[in-house]
Amino acid sequence: MKPLLEVSDLHVTFRSQHQEVKAIRGVDFTIGEGEVVAFVGESGSGKSVTFQSIMRLLPQPPANIDRGQVLYSGRDLTKLSEVDMQKIRGKEIAMIFQDPMTSLNPTIRVGKQITESLMRHQKLTSQEAKNRSIELLKMVGIPSPSERINQFPHQFSGGMRQRAMIAMALACSPKLLIADEPTTALDVTIQAQIIDLLKDLQNNTGSSIVFITHDLGVVAEIADRVAVMYAGKIVETGTLDEIFYDPKHPYTWGLLASMPKLDQSRDQDLASIPGSPPSLVNPPVGCPFTSRCPYAMKVCQEQMPEVTTSSDSHQVACWLQHPDAPEVKNPVASAG
Ligand code: SF4
Ligand code: MG
Repeated sequence: MKPLLEVSDLHVTFRSQHQEVKAIRGVDFTIGEGEVVAFVGESGSGKSVTFQSIMRLLPQPPANIDRGQVLYSGRDLTKLSEVDMQKIRGKEIAMIFQDPMTSLNPTIRVGKQITESLMRHQKLTSQEAKNRSIELLKMVGIPSPSERINQFPHQFSGGMRQRAMIAMALACSPKLLIADEPTTALDVTIQAQIIDLLKDLQNNTGSSIVFITHDLGVVAEIADRVAVMYAGKIVETGTLDEIFYDPKHPYTWGLLASMPKLDQSRDQDLASIPGSPPSLVNPPVGCPFTSRCPYAMKVCQEQMPEVTTSSDSHQVACWLQHPDAPEVKNPVASAG
């Protein structure tokens, strides 16, 4: 698979007068053309910050990309001018967010917001852009699109606003769509519809999708590959099957154990991982999961685990993978 986005050794720090938060601490990954990759982890693990820094959407200061390379189609995005970055945002790489109102302007009619973007990036005439907007709204499943284009965002329901935002993101046929918790605020039925919509779009357009979520159920629906983030690092990455059927990191085991089972009602208590992630003001020198890990050893506290490769696609950063480590049975598989 041809790589579209290649990120290496990315470090991002938030600096204020009083402290430094090391939000991203050396992240490496590749997104291939046409691939759907899910980034999972608790809030604060660095999923959103990683992609906001790649898109250069974080205000500098306080945010700063200390180190790293972000190659998009061979160009390093960390080195582009703001003018060049603007040509990439929306046109080449588009983002959709949990809250559609972060990208929809409440004072402008929905249709106009889409046509303006089309006219700016695609150089369409206003009539062409209007027709294309109607097509796009139809494609994302908005009923009576030729009437709806004249409405304001507040006249749309939450699910419809989410669809309108997706239509806007797709207006320029981006090569990469970054979806940051796009379904979290929606009810389960609409959530499923949006996921189906993204899957269809991916099949039809062949674009790559990054799906940021804390919900492994959603991941199972959509992803080819999964990256698990914890405390500003990727702790495990693998294909969907490798992560679900052969997970190797105790944090991934915890995430999987806290997933609702099919026969479990939503309000039943789910197992969750006790404790909370470490502060990133003074991150631990060793494994960041040590304080919550039932298998923590002395070495875990002292040294950052090396990344071990168990297949071309499967990597994990945990001392349990070291040849001298005691054998620990994966509790997810044994609970099977
Ligand atoms: Fe647990 Fe140690 Fe593995 Fe970290 S390196 S996840 S503390 S066993
Ligand atoms: Mg987030």
